[in-house]
Amino acid sequence: MQSLNLLERVDLEAVQGLVYLKPTELCYVRVASLTKLTSIDSVVISEAVRYTSKTFVSFPIEEINNPEKILSLLKLGVNGLALRASYEDKKFLHHERRGSERSGDLDLIAKVERFRRDFPSFETVVEFQLLPDMRILAPTIVRLYEDGMRWVVLNAEGEPDKLRISGFREIFEYLRIRGCSYLNVYFPFWNRQFREWDIKTQNTFSGLFEVHIDISNRCTHSCTFCGLYGPAALEDIKKDNGGKLSSQVNEFMKMEIDSEHCYQIIESLPWSVNIVQFGGAGDPLMHRDAVKFITAVRSRGFKVSVLSNMEYLEEEDLLELHRLGGRQDDLHFIANVSAGTPEMYVKTRPRQTDKTFDKVSSVLDRLSTLRESSADGRGVFFTVMCVVTTINCQSLLDVAKLAVKLRAQKLWFKPMELHASFQAPLIPGGNEMMRDMARSLKEAADYALSHGLELEQQEYCEQIFERYLGEIHV
Ligand code: SF4
Repeated sequence: MQSLNLLERVDLEAVQGLVYLKPTELCYVRVASLTKLTSIDSVVISEAVRYTSKTFVSFPIEEINNPEKILSLLKLGVNGLALRASYEDKKFLHHERRGSERSGDLDLIAKVERFRRDFPSFETVVEFQLLPDMRILAPTIVRLYEDGMRWVVLNAEGEPDKLRISGFREIFEYLRIRGCSYLNVYFPFWNRQFREWDIKTQNTFSGLFEVHIDISNRCTHSCTFCGLYGPAALEDIKKDNGGKLSSQVNEFMKMEIDSEHCYQIIESLPWSVNIVQFGGAGDPLMHRDAVKFITAVRSRGFKVSVLSNMEYLEEEDLLELHRLGGRQDDLHFIANVSAGTPEMYVKTRPRQTDKTFDKVSSVLDRLSTLRESSADGRGVFFTVMCVVTTINCQSLLDVAKLAVKLRAQKLWFKPMELHASFQAPLIPGGNEMMRDMARSLKEAADYALSHGLELEQQEYCEQIFERYLGEIHV
């Protein structure tokens, strides 16, 4: 579902954004007033209806007494309505005991029920304007749920504060106890903090948010730190099979998702999804349909993140990806480079040559050039990732310089993880090496930050500085 807050920030871009919607999408158009619907609102609604199978228009509940306007929405092809309502917080005090069948804001419930009876062609939900006292809210939602409403929007503004977090937790607990298993409770998807709201309030009614799809186990690289294709990993895997890869391992390495199955997964994702990550035991871009999968996800309006060695993209792919890109993390690649020079690249990937380094650099450079040449700065953004090992831990400044040269948005020094004993020699250790590594990391971090890059996992850098350089700040 593409979430839109159109009346408040309607522009051509928002309307154009609708072309990315597929017929299965649900579009949420929030207007300030139904009676004062502007011609722009009508255009936006008509466009949404054209591109999606379900368009919800959200408007103040007071305007339900204007049947003409509501019927005009029907004529426009709108099939869902979100009534923006508040509840009467004082009513809780006058009502019967908690949990009784007459609890909840009965006037509001009756209003919504009547409306649903009068306009059965619409699917009707409620977008709640919240009040400081939320005790009446949960029983009201339960009653609406019992009457068939399957989702509500809770208009929590700003950042989550302690008081409201505990209030919401109680509400969600109440909903759980009352068996609202199929309910979805959404904090406004136009609020930048909506994910934080979901996490801090432990909102299990918020629907799926992040989706990870493994699409390929294949890879042609030989990163020393890789648990499958690294030289040490391969030796370790072969040692129990007479020095050869067993047929099961070979099969595993060739495994890829069936394309139709992947499209089906993407098509079936609920509208609550924010981001889809593509991965696998190998490199996701080895899948011949990887770019098409990205197109399918972007066409649903979701963000995409891909972790890749970035070797396999050709000019045609780059142009397509650029077209699918957007702002910031709409389409973001995490480029596993792990070196700043061709020499170090080959050391960290013994089966690759400096030509691979050149190819990867040119792919990333091209993505940045395309982005920089677009009038609105849209396009593909990327993070340069460096898995820090004993091999590269003293040449991290080179990595930072490369990331700056390629105009990356972020730089990520990722600590090497230990999954098997053969990886132990790659983990930096010993005071001397760690101090050298800390110096190298400090130079790299300073360089990156002074050139406007963000540091991913900055706390890792800070811990290293504190421990080995006696300072905290990057
Ligand atoms: S690119 Fe990824 S999958 Fe391929 S060898 Fe390197 S770490 Fe392993």
